[in-house]
Amino acid sequence: MTIDELKQELVTANHILAHEGVLDSFGHVSVRHPTDPNRYFLSRARAPERVTESDIMEFTLEGKSVGAEPGKPYSERFIHGSVYEARPDVMSVVHNHSANVVPFSVSKKWRLRPIMHMCGPIGGDIPNWDIRTKFGDTNLLVTSMDMGRDMARTLGDRPVSLMRGHGCIVTGPSIRASVFTSIYMEINAEMLFKALSLGDVEYLSDGEIAAIAKGRAGFTFERGWENWCARVDRPYVSRDWAMGEGFSKTDV
Ligand code: MN
Repeated sequence: MTIDELKQELVTANHILAHEGVLDSFGHVSVRHPTDPNRYFLSRARAPERVTESDIMEFTLEGKSVGAEPGKPYSERFIHGSVYEARPDVMSVVHNHSANVVPFSVSKKWRLRPIMHMCGPIGGDIPNWDIRTKFGDTNLLVTSMDMGRDMARTLGDRPVSLMRGHGCIVTGPSIRASVFTSIYMEINAEMLFKALSLGDVEYLSDGEIAAIAKGRAGFTFERGWENWCARVDRPYVSRDWAMGEGFSKTDV
């Protein structure tokens, strides 16, 4: 896969996440550079639905732009570099404020946890990072590496983390995986609201979540990705990985 093809896929991810109700005019998705782990690609500050290939910028993990500067970068780009720095296994990061997820970042009563098998990839233990704990009263934006690193510490080795009063962060070993997990995280949150309105809820067990994670394969992401590409009228490029083999670091 060439860098240009990777940038095209990142643009597609922007459009898909906007269309599927994960990103609105805000939030962003990035991908780590496939051959230089100390760099990542992210759009200039623009509504994800409007992002094109020429908006994609390259950054160091500290958030310094290298190469073309088509515009102002996202002020919250430090979220991405901090996670790539702490997590060598992560190849793509989504930061979003999706509407059904945010309430679980402020609820003192209910926790977000998978209730349906497709949503297992969000994991059974979802931490909630509170920027106020270390930084006091702020505008809640993650605008420095200091803040990003604090957030990444709370994320730990988990796939996702909530951000209190703000949104969430979603990681994956590929763009397709982080997009998939982001979409199903929002779907799980919406379904959980409905389930809670019926009374007590049976969540997936830790064993079920582990079994889902183990069986999660590239083919599952591929099936969703093909359909989501068609919905936003973006070219679908198939991957030739075998069914069931999942991803490797180069399968971005
Ligand atoms: Mn944000």
